[in-house]
Amino acid sequence: MARRKKIYEGKAKTLYEGPEPGTIVQYFKDDATAFNAEKKAVIEGKGVLNNFLSEYFMTGLTNIGVPTHFLKRINMREQLVRSCEIVPLEVIVRNYAAGTMAKRLGLEEGTQLPRPIVEYCLKDDALGDPLVTEEHIAAFGWASQQDMDDILSLALRVNDFMSGVLYGVGIRLVDFKIEIGRIYDGDFQRLIVADEISPDSCRLWDIETGQKLDKDVFRRDLGSLTDAYTEVAKRLGVLPKGATPIRPTLIN
Ligand code: 5GP
Repeated sequence: MARRKKIYEGKAKTLYEGPEPGTIVQYFKDDATAFNAEKKAVIEGKGVLNNFLSEYFMTGLTNIGVPTHFLKRINMREQLVRSCEIVPLEVIVRNYAAGTMAKRLGLEEGTQLPRPIVEYCLKDDALGDPLVTEEHIAAFGWASQQDMDDILSLALRVNDFMSGVLYGVGIRLVDFKIEIGRIYDGDFQRLIVADEISPDSCRLWDIETGQKLDKDVFRRDLGSLTDAYTEVAKRLGVLPKGATPIRPTLIN
């Protein structure tokens, strides 16, 4: 098979040119990073789990009419996605105070917010993805007012869908980050959910016990990250009971 052209290598994923124009192959690595890559590890099986979980969430979103870049899963670690121009913002939706918001506002982690709060960070690793306001976004032209209306609507629809699906399996969606892609149909542009949706980019707490089932397990040294992600995958039926991602043939 011809070698594929690498387009981009990020912290957790590598992108290759897809088989057809306008497509990209997204490869999920086992690399875990935190605190702007100051903390690093290779966690066997993480890429497989995130590939399956992102497929699960993106497919569900597509099925309820939320546009995403996802086309199909190719194998254990790769998925085919639509090529798009990434809006240079991280869109964060929070239902409960945690992480940087809890710290910034002096809130106890786990405090329920009066309503979902959407925040925007500039995608810039060198600056540590700083929080920005809509005023910055408009003034610097990172997104138009129409884009921001569409992004807010997408973010809240993703939140409603994800909160419901996860609540159904006893998991609280505390917060999450999504990225938005721009695609062009002739003269028209549309915004779609891009990148990935996985426990790498969400905070997921067991509703009964409060146990963390997301990347905070790695960030805060709380145990096995693979066990936490496997638990999420099992509850959602993405992994059959008893299977582990390290023995991939057991996965449907
Ligand atoms: P915080 O701002 O509290 O660190 O993060 C809020 C939410 O967004 C968390 O669910 C966190 O996992 C996610 N998030 C924020 N920044 C990033 C990032 O650069 N990469 C990933 N994967 N998730 C992020």
